[in-house]
Amino acid sequence: MQNKYDILILGAGLGGLECALILSKKGFKVCVLEKNKHIGGTLQNFELHGCTFSSGMHYLGSLEDGQVLNKLFRFFGILDKLHLKKMDDKVFDRFNIGGEIIDYPMGWNNFREKMLSYFPHEKAAIDRYIQLINEVINSQAIYNLQEPGSYDIRENLFLKTGIYDAIQSITKNEDLQNVLCALNFVYAGDKHTSSLYTHALVNNYYISSAYRLIGGSSQVADLLAQNIRENGGDILTETEVKEFLFENDQMVGVKTSGGQKFWSDKIISNIHPTATLEKLEEGRIRKSFLNRISSIKNTISVFGLHLKLKPGSFPYLGYNYHYYKHKDVWAVSTYDEEKWPEFYYLYTPAQETKANMVDGVSLYAYMQFDEVSQWADLPMNDRGTEYETWKEQKAKKLIALASEQFPELNDNVVDWIAATPLTYRDYIGTPRGAMYGTLRDYKNPMASYIFPRTKIPNLYFTGQNINLHGMLGVSISALLTCGEIVDLHELIKEVNNG
Ligand SMILES: Cc1cc2nc3c(=O)[nH]c(=O)nc-3n(C[C@H](O)[C@H](O)[C@H](O)COP(=O)(O)OP(=O)(O)OC[C@H]3O[C@@H](n4cnc5c(N)ncnc54)[C@H](O)[C@@H]3O)c2cc1C
Repeated sequence: MQNKYDILILGAGLGGLECALILSKKGFKVCVLEKNKHIGGTLQNFELHGCTFSSGMHYLGSLEDGQVLNKLFRFFGILDKLHLKKMDDKVFDRFNIGGEIIDYPMGWNNFREKMLSYFPHEKAAIDRYIQLINEVINSQAIYNLQEPGSYDIRENLFLKTGIYDAIQSITKNEDLQNVLCALNFVYAGDKHTSSLYTHALVNNYYISSAYRLIGGSSQVADLLAQNIRENGGDILTETEVKEFLFENDQMVGVKTSGGQKFWSDKIISNIHPTATLEKLEEGRIRKSFLNRISSIKNTISVFGLHLKLKPGSFPYLGYNYHYYKHKDVWAVSTYDEEKWPEFYYLYTPAQETKANMVDGVSLYAYMQFDEVSQWADLPMNDRGTEYETWKEQKAKKLIALASEQFPELNDNVVDWIAATPLTYRDYIGTPRGAMYGTLRDYKNPMASYIFPRTKIPNLYFTGQNINLHGMLGVSISALLTCGEIVDLHELIKEVNNG
């Protein structure tokens, strides 16, 4: 039968590609169907006047020998081929919190020393914080590449604990509270919903070690794809999945927007869960499951601004820069539109050449989808002059704010390109352009966590909406998804054995 595979994978984002690689390594004939011209989802690069930017993956953590992403990348066969650049040991993330400069160094011992230098009278609180992070990490066997006792992480105590409350219980010192939570942009932190679990996994991921990818993040997707093809797998781009096909109540394949049919009785969806379930005809799935998945909220979106600068006008920074106008690091995710932006995240892409200077800079600031909803139904590349003018005003505001800390930006911007919540929605397929997919609410973990196995036999989810977002979260989710099809115990053993 034409287009018949052992396993179909819908979406060539990181999670889809990793599942395809794992399963093709195991001898399954896999096919990945991707709607875009390019694979990678938020791993995609783009060029502006010869400068390469990443659309959504700027730095990776835990890549030192023996650390978790190092082992995973080795297992995927991509570690030695990646062009990595280690960030600055002494400061990989710099925060300007209401005018106070705070640096996060790599390594927990260094982190402890640094925090003690800022807060010499808070030794007990700092030690308690580090101990707590350790407890969380150790409570999640899979993040230590050990077999999980249970897949049901919703029972994890730390998932049910808010990070805001946890830090409040550790110290009454508000400055220290803000410093310990300053990295919350990388998990779209919200004081009313974010869990200690998410905070701990993400902070540990980066504090353990932090790297950039020279030439952008698409190389991760390209290397995974190369290995999938070597294993006999197929990857088809510009192939948008529109609906699932059933025969006698059994899911048997999918149909694309071009009318092509692909057959398999096992399907992994890397597409956002709500968008996946929308492709099922009514009645195929229990209303209660559908309602639960559809009612899960998504994380906030973002305005990304990529600046092409005059050559040699901006220094390469070995760290990311997070600017908080005010001291409260939690306030920025619920920003006031009139005052926007009061926060930004700046990074310089790692380049092979001109190591000390760069000609590109990316800036990000939170943005609610509602700001762009008036243009939501207009065609992707033709949303009209009103939208273009609005984008330009936003870009100017963001550049003006960043120029206060980085005067090099003044007069050196040659051109820019902006990604809005509509861009993320349309390119990646995430509802409302959500930065990190579904929102995990510590107050409601039972309802806001999604499992790889769905209520449709042989339909599985993977990607950032399972468990955790980011390079590590998605890679762990790929293991868990594949662990529904092959022996997870064996898989984890293989990852550990390199
Ligand atoms: C601005 C930003 C910055 C980030 N920075 C970092 C960072 O520095 N470090 C880090 O670790 N993580 C970062 N992340 C998070 C990380 O990029 C994501 O968590 C991860 O890449 C998501 O992978 P995924 O497998 O869920 O796939 P996604 O990237 O969501 O890809 C899904 C794929 O499915 C495809 N698709 C959708 N619908 C269809 C359809 N109908 N048919 C076929 N294909 C379809 C899409 O086109 C896409 O290719 C960042 C994210 C953003 C948005």
